[in-house]
Amino acid sequence: MTELDPNNVQRTALLKHAGVARFAYNWGLARRMEEYERTGKSSNAIELHRQLNALKKTDFPWMYEVSKAAPQEALRDLDRAYKNFFEGRAKYPKFRSRRRGIGSFRLTGSIRVFNDSIQLPRIGRVRLKEKGYLPTEGVHILSATVSERAGHWFVSLQVEEEIEVPENVGSVAGVDVGISRLAMVSDGTIIENPKALARFERKRKRLQRSLSRKMKDSRNRADARLRLARCEFRIASIRMDAQHKATTMLARTKSVIGVESLNVAGLLKNHCLARQLADAGIGEFFRQLRYKTKWYGSNVVEADPFFPSTKKCSNCGAVKDGMPLSERIYKCGSCGFEADRDLNAAMNLASVAASWAETLNACESGEVHAARQVLPYEAGTERRLGGVLDG
Ligand SMILES: [Zn+2]
Repeated sequence: MTELDPNNVQRTALLKHAGVARFAYNWGLARRMEEYERTGKSSNAIELHRQLNALKKTDFPWMYEVSKAAPQEALRDLDRAYKNFFEGRAKYPKFRSRRRGIGSFRLTGSIRVFNDSIQLPRIGRVRLKEKGYLPTEGVHILSATVSERAGHWFVSLQVEEEIEVPENVGSVAGVDVGISRLAMVSDGTIIENPKALARFERKRKRLQRSLSRKMKDSRNRADARLRLARCEFRIASIRMDAQHKATTMLARTKSVIGVESLNVAGLLKNHCLARQLADAGIGEFFRQLRYKTKWYGSNVVEADPFFPSTKKCSNCGAVKDGMPLSERIYKCGSCGFEADRDLNAAMNLASVAASWAETLNACESGEVHAARQVLPYEAGTERRLGGVLDG
């Protein structure tokens, strides 16, 4: 994802596109709900797009001002939202409220990338804040997603490309992804959260308190909300940047990376911890690790959800009954081993990674049961579809 530097005319066009995308999504949702009530069935994106196009001339002529991809892709998103709902992965789709932000839209068609700008349908050639960040050749662009956050506009590309996956000769490691520190690697490398993060977190708390004291619907309150949004945006950028650095380093230098089960749903039941987990963006860390390991020919091995990575002694294998978060040092009652709790966990995860690698070598067919492999690595050329280029 990289930031756009639109001029005023383009800024207006971006707003219009986001507005039409939101309108189409909400229109489609209302239409589907109404149809379902009447007939017990509802239309898909293709059918809805046809209906919307028919209404465009008479009812919504302002839609001609934007690329037809914006409403079309929004209706596709709606299809996906319904699919996720029916398959039990998400709640029933909600209306997209303007109050919750300007939002985003997706464009397809002729999109061209230059060193310092990007050509978007109907919007034109928009300057990029960072030069040379997006690929200018060797990739086929499927679509571009444009989104707004706190007054800034961003673009990310969905591409199809042929990539040579290099052979990764790095070491096997375990990584404990944390809250107070970003990550601990089994070789002893500590990846701390950036110092600036704590400062902005304190600022966020202050701004939140200040916002809650402001009168409802007042000018002051709107200003306070904007200041808070800007601060939250800074926090997210700082965190994302640190995560990108860490995940790139790991995917480049390690051939097999053992991590905890990605299914933290169980932990999310604990309210306080859930907040902290969400804040630390552990899910985002794993997401980056998954796609980057693919690029660098590395593997992510996920431990069994019940694997006691924090309670197990990495030296003798004894398992404790409990390991409260306040205990920062792991002390083994059986063998006397002592280590930082995160390091002990990372070493256990390294063992998971190592045993996966051994099993893989033992049975050449590649069928592995010891641990679930998240991403299989196939040597040679790989076709990547719909990957998101964001560093
Ligand atoms: Zn022990």
